[in-house]
Amino acid sequence: MKLIYPGSFDPITRGHEDMIERASKVFDHVIIALGQSDDKKKQLFSLDERIELIKKSCTKIRNVHVHSYQALTVDFAKKMGASFILRGLRSESDYSYEVQRALMNQSIDKNIETIFMASSPQYSFISSTLVKEIASYGGELTSLVSKHVVDALKKKF
Ligand code: ADP
Repeated sequence: MKLIYPGSFDPITRGHEDMIERASKVFDHVIIALGQSDDKKKQLFSLDERIELIKKSCTKIRNVHVHSYQALTVDFAKKMGASFILRGLRSESDYSYEVQRALMNQSIDKNIETIFMASSPQYSFISSTLVKEIASYGGELTSLVSKHVVDALKKKF
Protein backbone atom coordinates (compact mmCIF):
# COMPACT_ATOMS: atom_id res chain seq x y z
CA MET A 1 0.00 0.00 0.00
CA LYS A 2 1.23 3.45 -0.96
CA LEU A 3 0.37 6.78 0.63
CA ILE A 4 1.30 10.40 0.11
CA TYR A 5 2.01 12.76 3.01
CA PRO A 6 1.41 16.26 1.63
CA GLY A 7 2.49 19.49 3.27
CA SER A 8 4.74 22.54 3.13
CA PHE A 9 7.46 21.20 5.49
CA ASP A 10 8.93 24.70 5.88
CA PRO A 11 10.98 23.29 7.55
CA ILE A 12 10.51 19.62 8.50
CA THR A 13 10.11 19.30 12.29
CA ARG A 14 10.44 16.44 14.78
CA GLY A 15 6.63 16.18 14.61
CA HIS A 16 6.76 15.53 10.83
CA GLU A 17 9.65 13.08 11.26
CA ASP A 18 7.70 11.12 13.87
CA MET A 19 4.68 10.90 11.54
CA ILE A 20 6.86 9.75 8.63
CA GLU A 21 8.59 7.07 10.70
CA ARG A 22 5.29 5.74 12.05
CA ALA A 23 3.64 5.76 8.61
CA SER A 24 6.62 3.93 7.09
CA LYS A 25 5.95 1.02 9.44
CA VAL A 26 2.32 0.69 8.36
CA PHE A 27 2.54 1.46 4.63
CA ASP A 28 4.82 -0.13 2.02
CA HIS A 29 5.64 3.20 0.38
CA VAL A 30 5.46 6.72 1.83
CA ILE A 31 5.75 9.65 -0.57
CA ILE A 32 6.36 13.01 1.05
CA ALA A 33 4.64 15.47 -1.24
CA LEU A 34 5.61 19.13 -1.22
CA GLY A 35 2.89 21.33 -2.63
CA GLN A 36 4.34 24.10 -4.78
CA SER A 37 1.51 26.60 -4.60
CA ASP A 38 2.51 30.16 -3.59
CA ASP A 39 5.97 28.77 -2.89
CA LYS A 40 7.83 31.99 -3.56
CA LYS A 41 5.61 34.22 -1.45
CA LYS A 42 5.38 32.64 1.95
CA GLN A 43 8.07 30.02 2.48
CA LEU A 44 11.33 30.61 4.34
CA PHE A 45 13.11 27.72 2.60
CA SER A 46 13.07 27.19 -1.16
CA LEU A 47 11.56 24.01 -2.55
CA ASP A 48 15.02 22.50 -3.14
CA GLU A 49 16.16 23.39 0.37
CA ARG A 50 13.06 21.80 1.91
CA ILE A 51 13.53 18.65 -0.17
CA GLU A 52 17.17 18.44 0.91
CA LEU A 53 16.26 18.81 4.61
CA ILE A 54 13.55 16.11 4.31
CA LYS A 55 15.95 13.74 2.56
CA LYS A 56 18.51 14.19 5.34
CA SER A 57 15.83 13.47 7.95
CA CYS A 58 14.80 10.26 6.20
CA THR A 59 18.12 8.72 5.16
CA LYS A 60 17.57 5.71 7.40
CA ILE A 61 14.03 4.92 6.18
CA ARG A 62 14.15 2.86 2.99
CA ASN A 63 10.50 3.10 1.88
CA VAL A 64 10.21 6.92 1.99
CA HIS A 65 10.60 9.18 -1.06
CA VAL A 66 10.22 12.93 -1.58
CA HIS A 67 8.45 14.61 -4.52
CA SER A 68 7.11 18.07 -5.23
CA TYR A 69 3.86 18.70 -7.09
CA GLN A 70 1.84 21.49 -8.57
CA ALA A 71 -1.65 20.05 -8.86
CA LEU A 72 -4.64 19.02 -6.80
CA THR A 73 -3.44 16.70 -4.03
CA VAL A 74 -5.84 13.92 -5.11
CA ASP A 75 -4.57 14.16 -8.69
CA PHE A 76 -1.00 13.90 -7.47
CA ALA A 77 -1.89 10.86 -5.32
CA LYS A 78 -3.48 9.21 -8.36
CA LYS A 79 -0.49 10.03 -10.54
CA MET A 80 1.82 8.36 -8.00
CA GLY A 81 -0.45 5.30 -7.75
CA ALA A 82 -1.29 6.08 -4.10
CA SER A 83 -4.76 5.43 -2.67
CA PHE A 84 -4.19 7.25 0.62
CA ILE A 85 -3.41 10.75 1.82
CA LEU A 86 -1.89 11.07 5.30
CA ARG A 87 -2.58 14.10 7.50
CA GLY A 88 -1.58 14.69 11.09
CA LEU A 89 -3.87 15.81 13.91
CA ARG A 90 -2.39 17.83 16.75
CA SER A 91 -5.46 19.52 18.16
CA GLU A 92 -9.16 20.22 17.70
CA SER A 93 -8.34 23.11 15.40
CA ASP A 94 -6.39 20.74 13.12
CA TYR A 95 -9.40 18.43 13.21
CA SER A 96 -11.97 20.89 11.85
CA TYR A 97 -9.64 22.14 9.12
CA GLU A 98 -8.47 18.66 8.13
CA VAL A 99 -11.94 17.10 8.03
CA GLN A 100 -13.13 19.84 5.68
CA ARG A 101 -10.13 19.21 3.43
CA ALA A 102 -10.66 15.45 3.53
CA LEU A 103 -14.32 15.80 2.59
CA MET A 104 -13.45 18.13 -0.25
CA ASN A 105 -10.88 15.64 -1.53
CA GLN A 106 -13.40 12.83 -1.18
CA SER A 107 -15.90 14.79 -3.25
CA ILE A 108 -13.27 15.18 -5.98
CA ASP A 109 -12.23 11.51 -5.97
CA LYS A 110 -13.94 8.96 -3.77
CA ASN A 111 -11.24 6.36 -4.43
CA ILE A 112 -8.60 8.32 -2.51
CA GLU A 113 -8.97 8.01 1.26
CA THR A 114 -7.54 10.47 3.79
CA ILE A 115 -5.92 8.76 6.79
CA PHE A 116 -5.45 10.74 10.01
CA MET A 117 -2.76 9.98 12.52
CA ALA A 118 -2.70 11.61 15.95
CA SER A 119 0.50 13.46 16.74
CA SER A 120 2.69 11.86 19.43
CA PRO A 121 2.06 13.87 22.62
CA GLN A 122 5.65 15.09 22.94
CA TYR A 123 5.41 16.71 19.49
CA SER A 124 1.82 17.91 19.42
CA PHE A 125 2.73 21.56 20.12
CA ILE A 126 5.30 21.79 17.33
CA SER A 127 4.56 23.61 14.08
CA SER A 128 6.90 24.89 11.37
CA THR A 129 5.48 28.39 11.92
CA LEU A 130 6.40 28.45 15.63
CA VAL A 131 9.80 26.92 14.90
CA LYS A 132 10.55 29.80 12.49
CA GLU A 133 9.39 32.34 15.05
CA ILE A 134 11.64 30.88 17.75
CA ALA A 135 14.55 30.68 15.30
CA SER A 136 14.09 34.34 14.36
CA TYR A 137 14.67 35.32 18.01
CA GLY A 138 17.63 32.95 18.44
CA GLY A 139 15.73 30.54 20.72
CA GLU A 140 16.57 26.93 21.53
CA LEU A 141 15.54 24.59 18.70
CA THR A 142 17.03 21.17 19.42
CA SER A 143 13.88 19.65 20.91
CA LEU A 144 11.82 20.90 17.96
CA VAL A 145 13.86 20.03 14.87
CA SER A 146 16.80 17.76 13.95
CA LYS A 147 20.37 19.04 14.09
CA HIS A 148 20.70 19.61 10.32
CA VAL A 149 17.50 21.69 10.41
CA VAL A 150 18.81 23.73 13.37
CA ASP A 151 21.92 24.48 11.29
CA ALA A 152 19.83 25.47 8.25
CA LEU A 153 17.64 27.76 10.38
CA LYS A 154 20.69 29.42 11.96
CA LYS A 155 22.00 30.21 8.47
CA LYS A 156 18.69 31.87 7.55
CA PHE A 157 18.53 34.12 10.62
P1 ADP B 1 0.38 22.28 5.56
O1 ADP B 1 0.74 23.66 5.16
O2 ADP B 1 -0.19 21.44 4.45
O3 ADP B 1 -0.45 22.16 6.84
P2 ADP B 1 2.60 21.36 7.19
O4 ADP B 1 3.98 21.10 6.75
O5 ADP B 1 2.38 22.43 8.19
O6 ADP B 1 1.79 21.61 5.85
O7 ADP B 1 1.95 20.03 7.75
C1 ADP B 1 1.89 18.87 6.98
C2 ADP B 1 1.14 17.81 7.75
O8 ADP B 1 1.88 17.47 8.90
C3 ADP B 1 -0.23 18.23 8.25
O9 ADP B 1 -1.11 17.13 8.17
C4 ADP B 1 0.00 18.60 9.69
O10 ADP B 1 -1.15 18.44 10.48
C5 ADP B 1 1.06 17.59 10.05
N1 ADP B 1 1.88 18.05 11.16
C6 ADP B 1 2.51 19.23 11.29
N2 ADP B 1 3.17 19.32 12.47
C7 ADP B 1 2.93 18.13 13.11
C8 ADP B 1 3.28 17.61 14.40
N3 ADP B 1 3.99 18.33 15.27
N4 ADP B 1 2.85 16.38 14.71
C9 ADP B 1 2.09 15.66 13.85
N5 ADP B 1 1.70 16.10 12.63
C10 ADP B 1 2.11 17.33 12.26
